[in-house]
Amino acid sequence: MPLPIGHGLAGIAFFQARPGLFLTKKWLDALFLVFLSNLPDADFLPGLMTGSPNRYHHGIFHSLGAALVVSAVIVLIFFRKKQQPKILFAVSFLVYSSHLLLDFFTRDFAAPYGLPLFWPFSKSYYIAARPIFSNITRSSRSSDFFPSLFNSHNLKAALLEIVLIGGLVLMATMVRFLLTKGNPRSNPG
Ligand SMILES: [Zn+2]
Repeated sequence: MPLPIGHGLAGIAFFQARPGLFLTKKWLDALFLVFLSNLPDADFLPGLMTGSPNRYHHGIFHSLGAALVVSAVIVLIFFRKKQQPKILFAVSFLVYSSHLLLDFFTRDFAAPYGLPLFWPFSKSYYIAARPIFSNITRSSRSSDFFPSLFNSHNLKAALLEIVLIGGLVLMATMVRFLLTKGNPRSNPG
């Protein structure tokens, strides 16, 4: 798993593409996309509450099936206000799936390796043959789970995420700037 900062930066890249798609206030819209890009890691919560944070991690929340269900729920929540169900669904699906993509390209040293990407159609786990991102070391106990995240290995992993995914955000920002500069009326904000 990349850290929340890596997934959150991916969410910001989507925000840059179309600010204000879900929520009118731009900072709230950005926050929502950061939340959505991190949502699959909510599967830490049941384990954290029962003393073993990794127990349910990389379960069905990390699948394209979950991405479809979550996107459908988001359309139901926002449809009346926004009236763009196809765009809302597509963007939600892509943002949620960006998490799966980043995790797919991350080293994993704990079985089962990778993600159940095609659940519910397949229970097989998938991981890239050549991962890009470093694994995140963490405790298997809830009591010291959060303090265990702060170490030099994870700091290096975070810096790599910031450089690679932050670079994408920067490029998305530049593309948006150039597009709106050429055609000011295309700026939705
Ligand atoms: Zn994850």
